[in-house]
This record gives sequence, structure tokens and C-alpha cells, in this order.
Amino acid sequence: MKNKPTIAIIGAGAAGFAAAISAAKKHTAHVVLLERLNRSGKKLLATGNGRCNLENMTADLPAYQTENVTQLRQMLEQFPPQRVLDFFEECGLLCREEEEGRVYPAANQAAAVLEVLRNEAAHYGVQEICEWEVAEIIPEKERFRLLSSDGRSLIAQAVILACGGKAAPKLGGTELGYQLAETLGHTLNVVYPCLSGLCCKEPKLNLLKGVRAECGVSLWSKKQLIKRCDGEVQFNDYGISGYPVMQLSASLHKTGKASFICLDLIPQLSMQELVSKLHQRKKKYPQRSANLLLSGLLNQKLATYHLHKVFKTLDFPFSALSAEMIFALCQQLKEWVIPILGMPGWDMAQVSGGGVPLEEVSAQTFESKKWKRLYLAGELLDVVGECGGYNLHWAFGSGIVAGTAAAESFR
Ligand SMILES: Cc1cc2nc3c(=O)[nH]c(=O)nc-3n(C[C@H](O)[C@H](O)[C@H](O)COP(=O)(O)OP(=O)(O)OC[C@H]3O[C@@H](n4cnc5c(N)ncnc54)[C@H](O)[C@@H]3O)c2cc1C
Repeated sequence: MKNKPTIAIIGAGAAGFAAAISAAKKHTAHVVLLERLNRSGKKLLATGNGRCNLENMTADLPAYQTENVTQLRQMLEQFPPQRVLDFFEECGLLCREEEEGRVYPAANQAAAVLEVLRNEAAHYGVQEICEWEVAEIIPEKERFRLLSSDGRSLIAQAVILACGGKAAPKLGGTELGYQLAETLGHTLNVVYPCLSGLCCKEPKLNLLKGVRAECGVSLWSKKQLIKRCDGEVQFNDYGISGYPVMQLSASLHKTGKASFICLDLIPQLSMQELVSKLHQRKKKYPQRSANLLLSGLLNQKLATYHLHKVFKTLDFPFSALSAEMIFALCQQLKEWVIPILGMPGWDMAQVSGGGVPLEEVSAQTFESKKWKRLYLAGELLDVVGECGGYNLHWAFGSGIVAGTAAAESFR
């Protein structure tokens, strides 16, 4: 090791591990992986509800958001999903593809992913050091001096910034990476929370806390439909969450405050079918009380909530329902408009949108255009993917490319 240069990788998350292993495999440098927390891969362990949705076989441009689509296309071309899977196969991880191209470890545990990464890194001689928070990077002649927040220092001939973003601070999310990039001359596109639930302005929504329902969910800005996504919505203290809401949350950054969510609570039936179903009920059960009108069609709490909202009182039989009343109820159920107040904050967000602009790094190597042998990878860059393995695809893929390039630069 003595005469070899050192590559320091800052951040032992998805991108950091992929970079460290890819660099160490080339045997051109000594690789040090620095992590500020007391253990590495903390966020990785929480991914995919503890199962780690590590890849998506459909990962490509449409699944991502960035300010620089042209450069992102060039970058993604370098690591199609199979390249990331080959990397994991070499590490010894058996994977399984599930619906919609989502890939999980066959062991069904995020811990299995972290284990193979740590073992593979150790196998190639990567020096993994926890509780080493990089506070400053000082470029010197053909090398960098890294200073830790507790006064230690380390010299490296190449540095890979893989510090992640601000999201999920309890799992390691921090601004430090952005600060380090800025002090090295990089700029930042506005950083915003992504993939989280939404705070809503809807009276008495707390009555629905804990309810889960399959819905059609669409995001609107003024009169324009931005995007629709179906799936299970969860109602909670602050608003709504769940897979479709998270997917749409990424678009909120662009639509701004005038946005609202429109929920279709009975997506299996068209408006017309629902209207005629309720007319049939009225005809068949004229004496039944109005509170039973939606029985068997909808979650009971949701049914009560909307019946009260539309009719105010439920003290009447089905026979008293007018066509207008039935139509108004169906409209409420098919097009429940919920104004959005915003995101609940960084704690609840899974990823950060925005970050270091892509044009500030090479599309081929992820090397900074500000400093030779400084590389950036992962969430720190201005790229955010949808739910479904796209963010880890980006983190692992960019880590592989940056790590490989850093090591190759010493040939
Ligand atoms: C709950 C949750 C579930 C998720 N599930 C999925 C999923 O199933 N599929 C998917 O594709 N994506 C998922 N994501 C998103 C995904 O985890 C991230 O996009 C990905 O981890 C980003 O990788 P990264 O390496 O860039 O950053 P991170 O994984 O965040 O790693 C960065 C590391 O750098 C360390 N660090 C930061 N600054 C310093 C410093 N100055 N010195 C030393 N160390 C530092 C941090 O402590 C951290 O460990 C999920 C996110 C969350 C929060």
C-alpha cells in the first residue's frame, strides 16, 4: 500500500460503497471510506421498508427529475440496470425481480445488501472508518487535505463526495455534503424534500387517521392535471401519505402552492356506474337509513365522513334521496378535492430533490469540473427518482462510475 495514492470516499451509503468497491477492485489506490455516523449504511438498512428495493429494471430518463435532462441522459446511459445487477452479482448478492421491474435481494432483507457490500469492500482492502465526519476539504498541490470535525486530518490524492442529501436526518441526511461541495466552488440548485406524504387543508381529516384505501390520486395545479397515480393512500394526522402520494410529491416542487390532490375513492367504478348503483340501492332498499348507503363500497370511516360532509344529517331513508343528492355524493367520492399545504418536512422525506448541477461534473466520469480528481456521486447531485428503486439505481450506478474513474485516473 505504501506507494499507492489514496482515494477518500466521503459517506458510507449506497453511492459511497459502490464507489469504494469499484475503486478498490482496480488495485491502483488505497481506498478509505469515511462515515460520520457510528455505523455505515444506516439509511440503506431502512430502504424498501427494510427490504431494500435496490434497483428497477425500467430505470431510465422518464423516472427522474433534474434541471439538466440532456446530461442526465448521458449519465444514465453509462449504467443501465444490468450494470448495477452485475456489480451486485459479483458481490455475491442474489436478487429477485418483482412487479413493475422492482428488484429486491432474494433474502428480502436490506441487511443482506449492506452485509455483502461491507464484506466485498473489506475483501478488496477498503478501509472503512466510522465517526469520521469530514468538516473541510482543502485542495493542495495534486492532493486534498481532509479535516474532521474533531480535529483529525487525512491526505488523499482523490476524493469522492458521496454524502447524500438532507432527507431523513435520523438516518444520516445532512447538509454537510452540499456545504463541502460549495466550499470547493460548486453551486447548488434549490434543494427540496421529495417522496413524502403531503400536509393537507381539509376539515376534520384527523377523523380518518389510520384509514387506508385504494384510490386514484391525481395532482392538479390550478386547472391543469399534473400527474395521476393509483394505489393505497394512508390518512394521518397531518394529511395523506402512501405510495401514490409519494410519487406525486416529487412534482409538487414545480406546481407550487396552488396545487390540490383529487382522490377517486372508488376507482373500480366509473361515475356513471356509481350513480346507477346508488339509484339501484334506493329502489331496492327504500326504508334503509342513509348511513348505510355506501355499505360494502367503501371503508366505513370514509363512508361516514363523506355522507356527513355531503348530507350534513343522515336521519332519512334511501327513499328521500333525490337524483341531485346521489350525484353530489358520487362526485364527492370520485373527485374529492383536497388542497395541499405542503410537505411535512425533511424528517418525513425519503430523498432530496435539487443539489449540485449535473453540468458541474463530467457526464462520463462524474469528475468535478472545478477540481481534478474530485468526484461527486449519489443524491448530492441534482437528480431525484420516483419510488420503486430508481434512487438507489442512481446512487449505486453513479458510485460505480465515479469509483471506477477515480481508480483509473491513477493508471
Ligand atoms: C426510509 C427510506 C426508504 C427508502 N427506500 C428506498 C428504496 O427502497 N429504493 C430506493 O431506490 N431508494 C430508497 N430510498 C432513497 C435512497 O435511500 C437514497 O436515495 C440513497 O440512499 C442515496 O444514496 P447516497 O449514497 O447518495 O446517500 P446516503 O445513502 O444518504 O449516504 C450518505 C452517507 O454519507 C454520510 N455523510 C454525509 N456527510 C458526511 C461527512 N461530511 N462526513 C462523513 N460522512 C458523511 C451520511 O451519514 C450517510 O451515511 C429511501 C430513503 C429513505 C429515507
